Amino acid sequence: MCRHLAYLGPLRDLATLLLDPPHSLLRQSYAPADMRGGGTVNADGFGAGWYPDGARTPIRYRRAVPIWADASFAALARAVRSGAVLAAVRSATVGMPVMETACAPFATGRWLFSHNGVVAGWPDSVAGLASRLPVTELLTLEAPTDSALLWALVRQRLAAGASPGGALGAVTAQVRAAAPGSRLNMLVTDGTELAATAVDHALVVRAGDGGVLVCSEPTDPSFGWEPVPDCHLLTATPSAVDVVPIPATASEER
Ligand code: GLN
Repeated sequence: MCRHLAYLGPLRDLATLLLDPPHSLLRQSYAPADMRGGGTVNADGFGAGWYPDGARTPIRYRRAVPIWADASFAALARAVRSGAVLAAVRSATVGMPVMETACAPFATGRWLFSHNGVVAGWPDSVAGLASRLPVTELLTLEAPTDSALLWALVRQRLAAGASPGGALGAVTAQVRAAAPGSRLNMLVTDGTELAATAVDHALVVRAGDGGVLVCSEPTDPSFGWEPVPDCHLLTATPSAVDVVPIPATASEER
């Protein structure tokens, strides 16, 4: 399954966050440690989104090639500094296309979103859920993938006023009810706060020094990483982290 990462905190350049650590996202693209049977490498594209200092709307860079094969990104990543970043490397689920617009982060307005995992029984299992979305949402999905549909479901709740944690928790419960056995590690941020789910997939968090880093796998062997338990929702700002169980049923909580 794909690997993803989100960071909120003091300004850092993208290379020190994504490329330089001993078990960076770059390394996790060809030598991930904890895929739990969901693929072997993450070579079907990658993406990074970041909020320029003081900006509310993110900039996004995505490619449908392995992150190690994009020589331009390494140079760009060294030149870009940000205090809010969401990035991912992709292992396409069998049957889903390899294309730039299927790579996370998905973006709308001030939001960035990523999904690690798979919707079980795709697409039939969630056809009912999808049919409740406005037709325009379905016609403008960025890619014919489970992750793009999850983003449409999450962003509809965000647009209706849900908090990031409320939106992820509710969509997780809905999708697990419709498609049991789904793997649903999702990440969403607006650059000031983030929310992440751990559902049948690895997720760790490290907080300190005025920042928070949430990743599929620890990026270095230092202390301070905390595993996020399965079926839990993490919400965080640069200075606070909260982890709670995900309710079994969808709520309209905001
Ligand atoms: N199912 C999603 C996709 O194909 C995510 C894949 C993954 O987590 N490996 O893009």
